[in-house]
Formats: sequence, structure tokens, C-alpha cells
Amino acid sequence: MFEPEVWRAVPFHFWSAVFFVFGSIVGSFLNVCIHRLPRGESVVHPPSHCPHCGYAIPWYLNIPLVTWVWLRGRCAHCSASISIRYWVVELATALLFLAAWLKAGEGSAGLALVYSLFLAGLLAASVIDYEHFIIPDEITLGGMVAGFLLSAMLPGLHQTPSIPEALKQSGLGILAGTGLIYATVRIGKWFLGKKRHDLPPDSKVIFGENGVQLPDETIAYEDIFYRPSDALEFHARSVLLGEQSFENVAVRLTPSVLEVGEQKYNPSEITHMEVVTDSLIIPREAMGLGDVKFMGAIGAFLGWQGVLFSLICSAFLGALGGGLTMLYHRLRHQPASTLIQYGPYIAMAAAIWLFWGPELMDWWFRLMTPRGLAPFR
Ligand SMILES: [Zn+2]
Repeated sequence: MFEPEVWRAVPFHFWSAVFFVFGSIVGSFLNVCIHRLPRGESVVHPPSHCPHCGYAIPWYLNIPLVTWVWLRGRCAHCSASISIRYWVVELATALLFLAAWLKAGEGSAGLALVYSLFLAGLLAASVIDYEHFIIPDEITLGGMVAGFLLSAMLPGLHQTPSIPEALKQSGLGILAGTGLIYATVRIGKWFLGKKRHDLPPDSKVIFGENGVQLPDETIAYEDIFYRPSDALEFHARSVLLGEQSFENVAVRLTPSVLEVGEQKYNPSEITHMEVVTDSLIIPREAMGLGDVKFMGAIGAFLGWQGVLFSLICSAFLGALGGGLTMLYHRLRHQPASTLIQYGPYIAMAAAIWLFWGPELMDWWFRLMTPRGLAPFR
């Protein structure tokens, strides 16, 4: 069905419109994923419902882009306001699908479709990372598998007609992506240091089996402790640990020891601890293991060159974004936010590579090649 003749039977911009509309429908589904994946809920069941009153949205009211405007951003049942984010994600996905078609549709409709889905994954990962500081495995590990399989179906994804060559490129991309970012995380050269995380006064924080549950987010232990020496420290108003309770104590948690005041415990023997505090000092760096897997997925689609570009370009974008954020907070006399999400910058860099990578590389090589010498591409 991806024979160019089949697609050329209809005017090019008919398909442009189809991609835009299809993108808005996928965007509507992304909204469901963005809301449910980080909460560990199923993305297929139950069907879309109002997050406030649980009202199941009937199909005739669930039209991407149109519904939100028609209902003026309110639930048809309880009139609770629905975030404009839903509409923005639908529009952004529609525009990304359109852009992917305009970029690749002339040559291969299949490639345009794969680019569309890849960009949708980047968008979902960015929004989830921005809100929850995690990128779900469904997107990262799922993306690695999808990218590898799609490379076999559409070797053109790696600019080659040969399936083995495309699989090699995809595999190298996965290795380069996970390896490079893992090394970067371990070396921890990007944003070293401890991050103080301020919470509303007297917040309840729960230390569960897999992570720390803050009022507005859950942080996995794998994203807190990279080295045996990493420690999470804070002063607790109260601590509830099994049968014991403490008041006004210092708490320190490392991968090997939990100290509550003078007492020491083995963290692996503790399954549940509740504390009340108003700040945590978390030894957190800009990138987490979620970013390692995320870059692996990008490599599966874009190969190692795309990974290398995304790593360098995202560092520039991150520095720029971090600087602007700091300036914004300084101007408004607010304390700067201490947590940095790196995923959206990686996603932006990967999208830039997809659309303009070759042109940017040509420009760079011309800039770097002395006059009179033949460029080495
Ligand atoms: Zn409602």
C-alpha cells in the first residue's frame, strides 16, 4: 500500500489534510497517554472521561481540536475547566504529522507515517517528563523495539535500501544512544550537585518500595541514587517507620543505610516510611535513566549520527533554556526552580535532526572546512 503510484493518484495536499486530521486524532490519544501512563493506568480502558467528574465523553463530543473550543474548555457534564494543554497537544500533533508528510511524503508515504509516529512519541515523552520528571518505559523501551522493527520494514529510515544495513544502523543507534547518555549520567558533568526541592509546608512524603512519593510527583529510586555515596537528606517534622514514630529529626538515606536521628536501619528491610517535611535535598542530576532509554529509542529511529547530534544540540538547548528560566525567575524575584527536565531538550534536538539534520551538517562542515579544500562529505 506504500507504492508511490497509489498515493500519487490523489492530489498531494489531499494527503496533507489527511495527515493533519489523523495527527489531531493521534494527539487526542496522546492526551490519554500523557495523563495515564505516568499514573500506571491503562491507556485503552476505560474510555476518555472527564478528570473531575468521571463523565464518559461520548464519541460525538470527542472530536479532536473541535470539542475543546466548542465547549469553551469545560466538561459538558460538570462544567469543570479542562486544561488548554489538551487542545495544544492535539494541535501540535496535527502540525507535526503535517510537517512529517511535507518532509517525506513526496518520496515515501510509509516514511512520512513513521516520522509522524516518532514525532508523536517525542511530544508525549516531553510533556510527561515536563510534568512528572519521568519518561515511561512504554515510550522509551517501546520506542527502541518499534524503531528497530520499523527499520527492517522501511530501511529508507536509515537512507539505505538494504534491510541488514538498516538494522545495523538502528542497532548502532540504540547502543550509541544508551551508551553515550549513560556515560554522561555517570560522569555527571552536566549539572553536578545536590538539588534542594522545596515542598509546601508540612508535606507528607512517602517512601515506598520503588520511589519517593511527593505531593505532586513520584521520583524513582533509580533516578535518585546513581552512586553508593549519593544521599537524600532532610529535616523531618515527624517520621512514621513501621511501629516507631519520631518527631523533629534529621533523616539521611543512602542506598546502604537509613539514618533517622541516631538510629540506623538497612533500607532494603524497610518497605514503607512516611514523613512530614517541607524540603528535601535530592542528589539529582539533569539526566536520569529515563533519558538513557529515551536516547536509545531515538537512536533506533535515527541511527548513531542522530544520537550524536541530539546529544550535542540538546546540551546547547538545555543551557539556553536553563539560562532563560533562571533569568525569568530572577526578574520576577522568585526562587529558581531546582529541578531540570532534560527530556524535552533531547526531543527538540531529535526533531531538529529529523527535519534539518543533513542541511545543518553540510553547513557545519562548510564552516569547518578551510577554503580551497574539498569538503570531506
Ligand atoms: Zn466533568
